[in-house]
Amino acid sequence: MPPRLRQQNVTAAQWNANGEALGASDLTVAANNLFGANVFSVAVQRQRLSKDVFRRLNETLHRGEPLDLSLADGVAQAMKEWALERGATHYTHWFQPLTGSTAEKHDSFYGPAGDGAAIADFSGSELIQGEPDASSFPTGGIRATFEARGYTAWDPTSPAFILENPNGALLCIPTAFVSWTGEALDHKIPLLRSMDALSRSAVKAVRLFGDETAQRVFTTVGAEQEYFFIDEQYYFERPDLVTTGRTLFGAKPPKGHELDDHYFGSIPDRILACMLETERELQKLGVPVKTRHNEVAPNQYEVAPIFENSNVGSDHQQLTMQMMQNVARRYGLICLLHEKPFAGVNGSGKHNNWSMGTDTGVNLLDPGATPSDNLQFLFFCAAVIQAVDRHQELLRASVANAGQDHRLGANEAPPAIISIFLGAELEKAFDAIASGGTLEDTDRSALGMGTPTLPPLPKHGGDRNRTSPFAFTGNKFEFRALGSSMSLALPNTVLNTIVAEAIDHLASELEQALEGGAGLEDAVTDVVARSYRDHRRVCFMGDNYGEAWHQEAEQRGLANLRTTPDALPWLVHERTVGVFGAYGVLSERELESRYEVLVEQYFTQINIEAETAAMIARTMLLPAAVRHLAALQAAGIEALIEEVRPLVEELHFAIGKLGAANTEHPEGAEPLDEAIYMRDHVVVAMDEVRDVADRLEGIVADDLWPLPRYAEMLFIK
Ligand code: ADP
Ligand code: MG
Repeated sequence: MPPRLRQQNVTAAQWNANGEALGASDLTVAANNLFGANVFSVAVQRQRLSKDVFRRLNETLHRGEPLDLSLADGVAQAMKEWALERGATHYTHWFQPLTGSTAEKHDSFYGPAGDGAAIADFSGSELIQGEPDASSFPTGGIRATFEARGYTAWDPTSPAFILENPNGALLCIPTAFVSWTGEALDHKIPLLRSMDALSRSAVKAVRLFGDETAQRVFTTVGAEQEYFFIDEQYYFERPDLVTTGRTLFGAKPPKGHELDDHYFGSIPDRILACMLETERELQKLGVPVKTRHNEVAPNQYEVAPIFENSNVGSDHQQLTMQMMQNVARRYGLICLLHEKPFAGVNGSGKHNNWSMGTDTGVNLLDPGATPSDNLQFLFFCAAVIQAVDRHQELLRASVANAGQDHRLGANEAPPAIISIFLGAELEKAFDAIASGGTLEDTDRSALGMGTPTLPPLPKHGGDRNRTSPFAFTGNKFEFRALGSSMSLALPNTVLNTIVAEAIDHLASELEQALEGGAGLEDAVTDVVARSYRDHRRVCFMGDNYGEAWHQEAEQRGLANLRTTPDALPWLVHERTVGVFGAYGVLSERELESRYEVLVEQYFTQINIEAETAAMIARTMLLPAAVRHLAALQAAGIEALIEEVRPLVEELHFAIGKLGAANTEHPEGAEPLDEAIYMRDHVVVAMDEVRDVADRLEGIVADDLWPLPRYAEMLFIK
């Protein structure tokens, strides 16, 4: 029996990271003291900082005021003592370069004391600024090599935390990453700038509604993260998974999710043990994980946190992805975050729940009891509709990558067309306003459960529409087109920026109307009606997966940017440059650098896939097929030889074509042309190799086939 068929026999005791078998009651006790145990939280700060430093730091946090540098020494001292007590020996500025993942460079707290001993030292300047070598990170041409300097700068609005390792602990300080010329080299800076922009616009707007107290409006995010677990034994037998994160070969298994037996099914023991430990680790880091369940595909799962402000939520999302991958290894599992690890099987996305709320606790996207009554809600909701319509292509670009091209529009994920689902009730309200009719509050009656023992549930403001890429879900919008491996930062930066613009636009119209003597209700109704009439084309309540929608969307003039090379140029479109410049979120040069980095990532990733596919096909699959053919020839079974020989020849031919596509790149082409070449030639050639290889997988003797099969990877838990 090939080794891959042996299921790993991991017991509950072995599951525990340290080999100690914790009982359930120990865990309950632990859980109560766990949340935020490794976070330099507000509670810890209150305890450890002087009253004055604590107060000034909090002003920075709550009002978004610039950091007073004289604070830094006091904070650094307290942070160091806290970290040393928790076993930390090193610290790092933790940042998010344009690679899409996080970066660390560790420094020891300890330095020589001069007398042969070592003392722990950590100053304010080490807290607020670091200088990693920027030349090792993508900058999209912002940094010429002679100006390689990049600085990390402390972000006091995202709390420092301690990462534990069996052999030590590390203090991580969330930081922004800038070039020495002050340009953003990371994902955090534009996100922070966009939050500020939206706050300025929204605070101005709520004043028009009579709110004199709100000082700041925070955007919020809660991300539902999908992922796969597979046994690590299979992973290491698949060079494609190891190198590219997705399977480049693999025939469809006899059983998929046709039986619908996985979603919300009970969670297998080993998987659940791994999830529980991951969640414990995340809780220590102050990440408020809340929901877990199986997803549609076999061995696919989802985890979701309670929402937080966009900056902290985005940092926590990076930590979540990191922890999921780290902890999985302790259980003999691999956590796959690729958007499409298995062809023909549902891919993994990330739903980005987004809203905005004042520092006084008002969710601006919460309709309250009667939506049509709630003028302020309608105003902000209209702003979102306007923003999404005006910048639909940019939103699409913000979720583009090579993995997403296998998913968006493939009848399992939202299409590449961006549209908004409002729900029946809200759509009715907007339609009524737009047509100038009177508003009757739609009846939000209770949803009877048909049994006297179950309590009535309040009816949701409209049905669910799982096919919509951008859905209103009660008190927030859910942007559903993100890929599972992505940072939340860029899509949220885009959302915040374009909504800030729309709020300003509507607010200035409203202000004019009010100055002209109109009453608030009439003025808001008027402004909302006009905006909705102009932008309602982006609202769609039907089935987003159907072919009919593609045609209708085209008639409505909505963009359908199917692939990454179609979408990315919108990052540098003049409309994007205009709004990002006007709100100080990203300069044209910064946008261009991001565009370049993303285009390069796209073609580099496909290039790696293509070379990996060629290597596997040539050195693993073709030899297996040839051996199988040789065995048939030795046995002299003509009918079988006739069946296999043409496939072997076809595979050989397809490998040759892929090899040629891999070497015949256009000379001196622009990066975007290179990306288009990859999409139109290399991906096609890869698909051809895969097609014949997958047919051979169904014929070649099992003991000769060198790759673990889909059925094994997806069903052994
Ligand atoms: P649903 O099941 O409709 O998707 P949930 O209530 O389960 O809705 O929420 C899903 C995600 O949305 C969670 O991560 C949750 O924290 C997040 N969420 C809820 N309210 C908000 C909000 N105001 N802003 C941002 N995210 C939110
Ligand atoms: Mg959801």
